[in-house]
Amino acid sequence: MAFFNTFKSGDVVPASGSYAVLHSTPHKLPQRSVHVEGDKFQPCRLCPLGVLYRLEQPGAQWPLFANPAQAMAAC
Ligand SMILES: [Zn+2]
Repeated sequence: MAFFNTFKSGDVVPASGSYAVLHSTPHKLPQRSVHVEGDKFQPCRLCPLGVLYRLEQPGAQWPLFANPAQAMAAC
């Protein structure tokens, strides 16, 4: 797999999945969040240089399946 792309705040999310969130100012520990294709990566008020997002797990933890009933229906 070749999913080592990084994106920055303001970019459109290219693929749904779990992203590592890397702030340009070290005020926060690196974290993960789920983003949905077509959304925009959120900027950070504390990071004038923006935030980097790195795709870690494409398609995993699909937010629409947060509801177990919907997850079942999708199978
Ligand atoms: Zn920040």
